[in-house]
Amino acid sequence: MNSEQTFRIAVLAGDGIGPEVMAEGLRVLEAAAKKFSISFEFDHQLVGGAAIDAVGRALPAETLAACEQADAILFGSVGGPKWESLPANEQPERAALLPLRKHFGLFANLRPAICLPELTHASPLHPRLVEGGFDVLCVRELTGGLYFGEPKYIKSENGEDFAVDTMIYWESEIRRIAKVAFEAARNRRKEITSIDKANVLQNGILWRRVINEVSRDYPDVTLKHLYVDNAAMQLIKNPKAFDVILAENLFGDILSDEMAMIAGSLGMLPSASLGESTGGSTGGPTGGTTRFGMFEPSGGTAPDIAGQGIANPIAQILSCAMMLRFSIGRADAAEAIENAVRAVISSGLRTGDIHTPEARLVGTAEMGAAIAAQI
Ligand code: NAD
Repeated sequence: MNSEQTFRIAVLAGDGIGPEVMAEGLRVLEAAAKKFSISFEFDHQLVGGAAIDAVGRALPAETLAACEQADAILFGSVGGPKWESLPANEQPERAALLPLRKHFGLFANLRPAICLPELTHASPLHPRLVEGGFDVLCVRELTGGLYFGEPKYIKSENGEDFAVDTMIYWESEIRRIAKVAFEAARNRRKEITSIDKANVLQNGILWRRVINEVSRDYPDVTLKHLYVDNAAMQLIKNPKAFDVILAENLFGDILSDEMAMIAGSLGMLPSASLGESTGGSTGGPTGGTTRFGMFEPSGGTAPDIAGQGIANPIAQILSCAMMLRFSIGRADAAEAIENAVRAVISSGLRTGDIHTPEARLVGTAEMGAAIAAQI
């Protein structure tokens, strides 16, 4: 990699707690950039409700153009009660997030569900099941399957309505998401559980066949298959048994939310939505490829706590780490951020969402500053 290169990042903070947590994400990113001699240029743009208020559209043309010029997009979150009465297709999430995913072909959604050993109290599972914490990565196909297949309609026949959705997957779509999952697994514990419903769906049969084929290129990664209904149960029964979960769009949507709930607070969980390879190396031990991507917390704008300076910035900070790993190719800097988060949690600092009486309660900025200082 060219050490002189300046990476341009489109920063779309959005609404509610978005700008508050984004400020801390950037503070930590700047600390990591300084330590690892990475040069960033941040291009702040309007998105979501803030953009509707300022220029009348959730995704202004200028914002989209800035994203096109960027090496990656850092996203906060969008939406809130103020814009809920707008027509559905003008609302912030639908009119900003979905078009961004579509425009950039962001087909791979990565959501780590990490429950740190110190934060197992935040999990709704019995302490015996989560003792010592867990770390599961959900890899979800994001642009195919039942959500996008055509035809898709509601019609009437003989005085009765009926609805049709089409579940369609091309081999190439399955292959490319599988590669992302196998590459990610190589940087982890090297175990993939692929989810399908091959006992009922034709899609499941093709899915399983293609995943098996791709796995031959990754002999160092162990592959298991689970039916989705069984997976939903096993994840609750023993989350520690899983490393990477690979699923198509619908199953991945449901299971990644299940995992977010099991992990505890939304304030801790980052996400990445990745597109095609950009040709570089992720810098991991086995050198996966870098991809254009959008990186954002798994949660929303948290209107109940917005503006109070008490939101947990860690989801946004860890989203910056994912950006370093997957779009910038700097696993070393990503790890430094992840280790700094762990160290600060170990030292006893907590925002309200993960607080316990014996810990020290801090606000958004204090948490961000402590993590940046740790780097
Ligand atoms: P939410 O994720 O905003 O909030 C759910 C709960 O989690 C709230 O109690 C909130 O306080 C808490 N929470 C979330 N993030 C937190 C953080 N960083 N620190 C501490 N607590 C945190 O979900 P919601 O209430 O269903 O949605 C609120 C708004 O956000 C809606 O307008 C929704 O459309 C939007 N939303 C946007 C995105 C996105 O932009 N990607 C995702 C989900 C929801």
